[in-house]
Amino acid sequence: MPWYRKLHWQIILGLVSGLVFGIVAAANGWGEFIRDWVAPFGTIFMNLLKLIAVPLILASLITGVASLGDVRKLSRIGGKTIGLYVGTTAIAIVIGLLVVNLLQPGETVPPEMRDRLQTMYQGEAAARAESAAALERGPLQPIVDMVPENIFGAASSNRNMLQVVFFAIFAGIGLLMVPRKTAEPLITFFSSVNDLIIKMTEIIMKGAPYGVFALIAATITSIAQDNLQQVVELLAALGYYCLAVVGALVVHSAIVYPIMLRTWTPYKVGAFFSRLAPVQLLAFSTSSSNATLPVTMDIAEKQLGISEEVSSFALPLGATINMNGTALYQAVAAVFIAQTLGMNLDLVAQATIVLTATLAAIGTAGVPSAGIVTLVVILETVGVPSAGIALIFGVDRILDMIRTVVNVTGDVVTATVVAATEGQLEMPA
Ligand code: ASP
Repeated sequence: MPWYRKLHWQIILGLVSGLVFGIVAAANGWGEFIRDWVAPFGTIFMNLLKLIAVPLILASLITGVASLGDVRKLSRIGGKTIGLYVGTTAIAIVIGLLVVNLLQPGETVPPEMRDRLQTMYQGEAAARAESAAALERGPLQPIVDMVPENIFGAASSNRNMLQVVFFAIFAGIGLLMVPRKTAEPLITFFSSVNDLIIKMTEIIMKGAPYGVFALIAATITSIAQDNLQQVVELLAALGYYCLAVVGALVVHSAIVYPIMLRTWTPYKVGAFFSRLAPVQLLAFSTSSSNATLPVTMDIAEKQLGISEEVSSFALPLGATINMNGTALYQAVAAVFIAQTLGMNLDLVAQATIVLTATLAAIGTAGVPSAGIVTLVVILETVGVPSAGIALIFGVDRILDMIRTVVNVTGDVVTATVVAATEGQLEMPA
């Protein structure tokens, strides 16, 4: 197959042309045209991916858990997976804290710009703080929220993925315990639902280059709002902060993942990442781990050789609870906001960030802009005014795209490590 027919090159083409078209459109004030005639195709593409996320999580986790054969194996693989997820999240936060303390981006925002940003994004900041207030009811609330009272209610929103994951694991464990003969028809049913969804994903992905084009063009025009000048000003004022977030994300991805791959898997880092490219490009374009999940699973199984047993357990779980990029960004953002407001966070406050950001990232839904809502909880825990998120709002969408890439990369790297150490990684030829 010639290189330009390969999916990831076609997606890159869609992405770059969407970027160029978006900038041209913003510069010429074609915002309305993009909203009416281009954005809907991006929304359709995104909806198609989101549409299959809940059935995919349900079917793949139930079969994943049930096919492990016994509860002991589940606790071993589950323990390893969750341990790596939490461990890499904590490392990501520490890297974020080191970088933000080193670069001190908060010192570079001029006071006039700070006041302007706060007035400009006051409304959005208040809305996010309000959604966060709903999250914050007592220390045990996140655990309570994990347990749905009605599975159809939980499955009706992509924001409740954690509840769907809970139900699926619970049902899978139940299936492990009923006699094999009774369990078999259900396992066969869910496993064919699983295959069906993977097939649907492949069909949807045929439209990916167009979907990505529309998504990126629409994102650029919505950020710019027909005023490119404003974006340039924002980037100038917050450039150092963006640099701190992106720099720390790069450090994490360039150190932690290669070490994990080299230590536990037979993969060469370059070969691994070139196979993963379509997943990363899609995460970048959709800003959503959930929407990317069907493709993540397809590539993990077909291109990276991770067994279905491991991928169908680790990846849906990862898309829901493992957010290395989000956790790192939250640590940088919290310290940046404190610095800009002239507050000094001592060591205890920074240690608190490690703990709260780990929990906040677990509780963050894999949908666009979810990270800034849970950031409010972190700010309030360390005593920084949550209205401070107004400072970073203008550039959040761009950073969301980048942190989502790291979120899904972290999921796949962990799944590969678990598969390799369980003897369930079949290296592709
Ligand atoms: N968009 C991210 C994700 O889906 C979550 C976030 O907002 O940080 O992984």
